[in-house]
Amino acid sequence: QSDALIFVTDGQSGLTPNDAEVAEQVRGANVPVLVAVNKTESLKDRHAGAEFFKLGFESVYEISALHGEGVGDLLDVLVELLPRYDLVQSRPDLRLAVVGVPNVGKSSLVNALVGEEANIVDERPGTTRDSIDVAIKWHDRRIILVDTAGIKRKSRSKDGITILSALKSLETIERCDVAVLMLDASRKLSKQDVKVASYVHKGGKGVLTCFNKWDLVEKGDKTYREFEKDFRERFGFMSYTRIMFISALDRQRVSKVFPAVWKIKEEREKRVPTSEFNKFIEDVCKRYPPPFYGGGTGKVYYGTQVDVAPPTFSLFVNKAAYFGRNYLRYLNNRIRDAYSFEGTLIRINLAEKKRGSVEQ
Ligand code: GDP
Repeated sequence: QSDALIFVTDGQSGLTPNDAEVAEQVRGANVPVLVAVNKTESLKDRHAGAEFFKLGFESVYEISALHGEGVGDLLDVLVELLPRYDLVQSRPDLRLAVVGVPNVGKSSLVNALVGEEANIVDERPGTTRDSIDVAIKWHDRRIILVDTAGIKRKSRSKDGITILSALKSLETIERCDVAVLMLDASRKLSKQDVKVASYVHKGGKGVLTCFNKWDLVEKGDKTYREFEKDFRERFGFMSYTRIMFISALDRQRVSKVFPAVWKIKEEREKRVPTSEFNKFIEDVCKRYPPPFYGGGTGKVYYGTQVDVAPPTFSLFVNKAAYFGRNYLRYLNNRIRDAYSFEGTLIRINLAEKKRGSVEQ
């Protein structure tokens, strides 16, 4: 029932009659077969894999599952063989939400963006009665503004509106790929601002932070830096976001918003090839190996990016408990140094390699 097969053989015991028997069955499956000659870590110079060509399959790979050697290359070949679900095809659109507490200027920004930067292609109902998604064209790209009605529908009444907006923005955040987090530069940052940001973060959405109403701010040499510092202190969990200073009213830097969010969408969907990532993680762990922690010393055998949006990596390790927060942060920071992923969080999963019964 599979799309491809990895036929695992034992390089230390060499080709056996059993292998030939399995080969017959495998051939009957009529799918691509990769022969993985395992346990070859100490047999590098002996071409332990060569004799396995006798089984009659085109591809033979020497690997060491225990040490992770050759596994990345094998995975890359395997991925090529699997049915393709074209990423570009399956995610043609950017679903963008503009979020923030009431009166930060969300609807002003949406109107500025739609009026000046792009044209409306169509409007259709969102998931709830009064939410409307607006599809627009920007440089031949489709951007769907999620839930603009919630933004447009202005209410003059003071009571109840805060709660309603908070609930709406939760649902809106769930439905978007990238959120523009709007903050009011003319007011102090509030707990509510942090709350909205934390929803975006927890949802694993891409984020561009915009300090709006920049026209109202008295500016000196250090104003940008002070805003940025204050933000970084209070929104430490979102260190990966880019910050822009805009004025929806004066259209200051409004034209930079779409290019920035599109870049974040691309970063969020970026894939690092397994063989490259393995080499990278090996170097990183060599430069600063995991320290003794949780009763032992961690070891990373290999790693691979298992998902996008948000980028998610699995590291195969001896024991997950040996990896402390600090070391994971170190890995996270190195991944960012190398691959950026600006505007999106990165997830790192640790998977423990189970020792098979072959290890006696
Ligand atoms: P929303 O509740 O987040 O959608 O906020 P609105 O877009 O309705 O804006 C709230 C108020 O802030 C309105 O009076 C806007 O005119 C004003 N506003 C929005 N953006 C700016 C800006 O960049 N500069 C200034 N000075 N006022 C703004």
